[in-house]
Amino acid sequence: MSNPSLLILPGDGIGPEVMAEVRKVIDWYGAKRDLAFDVSEDLVGGAAYDAHGTPLHDDTMAKAQEVDAVLLGAVGGPKYDVLDFSVKPERGLLRLRKEMDLYANLRPAQCFDALADFSSLKKDVVAGLDIMIVRELTSGIYFGEPRGIIEEGNERVGINTQRYTESEIDRVARSAFELAMKRDKKLCSMEKANVMESGVLWREVVTEVGKDYPEVELSHMYADAGAMQLCRWPKQFDVIVTDNLFGDLLSDAAAMLTGSLGMLPSASLGAPMANGRPKALYEPVHGSAPDIAGQGKANPIACILSFAMALRYSFDLGDEATRLEQAVEKVLADGARTADLLGEEGVDPVSTSQMGDAIVAALDASL
Ligand code: NAD
Repeated sequence: MSNPSLLILPGDGIGPEVMAEVRKVIDWYGAKRDLAFDVSEDLVGGAAYDAHGTPLHDDTMAKAQEVDAVLLGAVGGPKYDVLDFSVKPERGLLRLRKEMDLYANLRPAQCFDALADFSSLKKDVVAGLDIMIVRELTSGIYFGEPRGIIEEGNERVGINTQRYTESEIDRVARSAFELAMKRDKKLCSMEKANVMESGVLWREVVTEVGKDYPEVELSHMYADAGAMQLCRWPKQFDVIVTDNLFGDLLSDAAAMLTGSLGMLPSASLGAPMANGRPKALYEPVHGSAPDIAGQGKANPIACILSFAMALRYSFDLGDEATRLEQAVEKVLADGARTADLLGEEGVDPVSTSQMGDAIVAALDASL
């Protein structure tokens, strides 16, 4: 059998820096766990624009469709702000998400004990937190028609339309139930069925899909109440599934419960391919951080944890994903901090590559 394939797209700014640390981890799995990946690398975002005049070359798009998983760093930077909207670096990422039809966006909010003091919430509220928000990514109000700004009488009206088909709700609900089955078998669906018809349909379809997953305890919550509960006692949740708009807000809020942007991974999954693996793109939540690019200050953990998600969700290597997450946890518990994680006085930050090396050393120690 051939090795699983990975397409690496480091992108711009700190993207290549954090991805270099992921390469160390990938190499470690090949050398020490006999898990070799066929890795290819290509350009995306501003780097692709500089080389090809487009933020994503057609050949790169074709490669992304063929591989088992895509791992992306970050795109964008001030140099590209002047470009026409159609060729801005972010368009490369949007094209990947759209053409791979990645409809389920997985955003974990996990609080490592060593960083519990970093949260704006009390330590006991967040310590040990481990929840997953599944956001519908390809439909809803960001895409619905009609949309635009029109003249009506003597004023302008801004219009966006929330629109969901049953099949769109069904498929993202299934992704969330599958995930819940691999975790604590608890799923909370959030919408506004009290004031939105799309919410009524959302609740009906999720309930219907739930009949195929009798082991999963399903609950429903209005999204505004969900926002309050996430701040009050987030540990009551395991998996949350919600639409594109509410998911955008709730996943950002939940993510920040845990501290730094440099710690947050994500996955975007689509329909299963012929080999049964879902179409998949893994990326840190953060951007290209031009303010610290090229200085060795970037925290590579978000990107490394994105690879851990790939191990778990694309390659069914949950144990190896846990090994990597525990290696990160150990390094943090031992006190290593990149500059973004510095709180305590008298602690010198480690560089991007020192953090990567420490994680690889912790992987070694796990054997
Ligand atoms: P950003 O996430 O790049 O940076 C926000 C702040 O967090 C900065 O102070 C940065 O230094 C810090 N930061 C981010 N990641 C870090 C890391 N790994 N380690 C340490 N510190 C980190 O967001 P921004 O400044 O709003 O955007 C910068 C560029 O990135 C823009 O061009 C934007 O369009 C782009 N962007 C891209 C993505 C993506 O590729 N998915 C996401 C968001 C923003």
